[in-house]
Amino acid sequence: MKALDLLYQGKAKSAYLTDDPDLVVLRFRDDTSAFDGEVIEQLVDKGAINNQFNGFIMEALGAAGIPTHFEKLLNANESVVKRLDMIPVECVVRNQAAGSLVRRLGIEEGLSFDPPLFELFLKNDELHDPMITEHHVEAFRWATRAEMATMHDLTLRVNEVLRAMFFDVGLLLVDFKIEFGRFHGEIFLGDEFSPDGCRLWDIETGEKKDKDRFRQGLGGVVEAYRDVSERLGIKLDA
Ligand code: UDP
Repeated sequence: MKALDLLYQGKAKSAYLTDDPDLVVLRFRDDTSAFDGEVIEQLVDKGAINNQFNGFIMEALGAAGIPTHFEKLLNANESVVKRLDMIPVECVVRNQAAGSLVRRLGIEEGLSFDPPLFELFLKNDELHDPMITEHHVEAFRWATRAEMATMHDLTLRVNEVLRAMFFDVGLLLVDFKIEFGRFHGEIFLGDEFSPDGCRLWDIETGEKKDKDRFRQGLGGVVEAYRDVSERLGIKLDA
């Protein structure tokens, strides 16, 4: 299988058509963006690390019964995935308060939520990904009520599986964003799961091991992603 015509170019990944209409090749680039694409930098090896990290996580989620787009790693920077009809809604779960929630509600970073908090955002950089509710999703027909219920349920299950997995290697899964799409009428997890789209804090030291290092100019971004990968036992080709 190899990448043919470019189908879509996002901020950190490109999708290419293949000779199978149901499959695309996802290329994870080194581009790293923040603040709705206002800042973009190249971080050497980040694409390869995120590609392999995503493959590992998607396989673990698949083994836990969550339907995902992931088929196989193609090489260091590319994976073969199902071609989904993506739903333009970002599903966020928060176990602790951080980021936009802290700014929006003026609460303390690190406040714990039990049960976890579920939020939705419209995927639209020009509008700065506004917060929406399940009612907006239905009213604007971005997804049906049944699809939204499935996405909600799957997002909470992803949280349960990954929270335990990261806890076992000394990391708190603070929050994350995931996206879903349709494949032959069914809802599948798509896009990616990597340290670009979640927050991970070292349980002992509180050190940030995710894209906040880039957003906040802390440095050591790729080193942190490598550390998380190594803790999970991912043998990186990067
Ligand atoms: N997130 C993301 N893409 C976005 C917005 C958020 O991957 O466009 C992730 C982010 O990395 C964090 C979680 O979603 O893990 C919650 O982000 P938040 O709403 O706090 O926004 P931020 O502070 O990142 O602007």
